[in-house]
Amino acid sequence: MNTVLTEEERELQKIYKEYADERIRPHTLEIDKGLFSVEPLLKEMHELGFCGIVIPKEYGGLGSTYVHYVLAVEELSKASGPVAKSVSGQTNMCFPILHYGTEEQKQKYVVPWVKGEKRSAFTLTEPGAGSDAAGMQTTAELINGEFVVNGTKAFITGAREADFFQTYCQFKAPDGTKSPICLLIDVHECEGITIGRNEDLMGMRASSVAEVIFDNVHVPAENLLGQIGKGFHAAMSTLDAGRLGISAVCVGMAQDAVDQTVKYTKERVQFGKRISQFQNTQFKLAEYQTKVEAARLMVYNCASMMDNGQRVSHLSSMAKYYASDVLNEVVRGCLQLHGGYGYSKEFVIEKLYRDAKLTEIFEGTSEIQKKIIAKWMGVK
Ligand SMILES: Cc1cc2nc3c(=O)[nH]c(=O)nc-3n(C[C@H](O)[C@H](O)[C@H](O)COP(=O)(O)OP(=O)(O)OC[C@H]3O[C@@H](n4cnc5c(N)ncnc54)[C@H](O)[C@@H]3O)c2cc1C
Repeated sequence: MNTVLTEEERELQKIYKEYADERIRPHTLEIDKGLFSVEPLLKEMHELGFCGIVIPKEYGGLGSTYVHYVLAVEELSKASGPVAKSVSGQTNMCFPILHYGTEEQKQKYVVPWVKGEKRSAFTLTEPGAGSDAAGMQTTAELINGEFVVNGTKAFITGAREADFFQTYCQFKAPDGTKSPICLLIDVHECEGITIGRNEDLMGMRASSVAEVIFDNVHVPAENLLGQIGKGFHAAMSTLDAGRLGISAVCVGMAQDAVDQTVKYTKERVQFGKRISQFQNTQFKLAEYQTKVEAARLMVYNCASMMDNGQRVSHLSSMAKYYASDVLNEVVRGCLQLHGGYGYSKEFVIEKLYRDAKLTEIFEGTSEIQKKIIAKWMGVK
């Protein structure tokens, strides 16, 4: 039992766990193999409020806390990291519009989005600009009162399902100067958008991940999010919460790996003993559980600081770096404790091993998180 949580939070944790065990866990492996579509499940989770936990009530959310949010994401990810990642991703993308959007933009995009009637995709990375997002080449020029967008975005999660793209690009002023902006590009209202083929991914298979090509896409001026030159402020407001969400995904997946391994090693017998009776197994599992608990506390602390309105960029980076590192160590060790069966696609640990790797790469690689932390420490 975790004593930093209130009774109400522990009750909610139970409800989230029951939902995940009943609705998601039976399909964990089928989702990975593409045999079960998560779309109806995501719609159901939107309707149940999973994607609006921290969204204000006036925009259709539950108006609750980040602590509730990470508890939900953690429980969902015990059943399926990819599903939890989708819920976390869809929640986080609301923040730039809530922080920088006009009332019309909030009504037009956030309200139907929280209900699951509209889907969005965060569109920042480009073939030549990943960690160095400021190096992006996609441009927007203001011509006859409309932005005209040209460029290619890469690795966009949910590209194929998106109703609108939250697209970051360089505004080219008439004098040739460039400054970052964010545009809400509505797929149903704009022509010239092509979705490339889906990436064939190693893991975290739930939503499509694809290139998005903008070819002379005319976007109404009122779809500018915030101000010209402040595009990265909007992106960063997504990344703080995004990194917190991914940290919670890591904790849930790592806990699931430990739980699966405790069960397996208590059943498997070699040399006349259960694998769990070997001291190596006990010590390894004790180490893993301790590290998962440490990561969990970092996540809860960061969430509760966000609830108090404090700046958490360095803490969300620390949580993401540490939790993804712990997850990858834990799944590798837990797979080893499964022996050859851990290498078989019949066991969830094999899938967890593949899913885990992404958490060290997307929403900023581990190296980029360390760069942020070192900068915050004043190490230069
Ligand atoms: C499955 C998946 C889903 C994704 N979804 C989205 C999405 O929805 N929207 C979106 O915009 N993007 C998305 N991304 C892109 C993701 O955010 C980028 O892959 C990530 O930011 C890294 O960029 P890169 O792949 O170009 O790697 P690079 O930037 O080329 O990095 C390569 C290596 O160099 C290291 N490196 C780079 N710069 C430095 C430095 N200054 N110091 C030290 N090391 C450095 C990196 O850490 C990494 O190890 C997704 C990626 C994947 C794989």
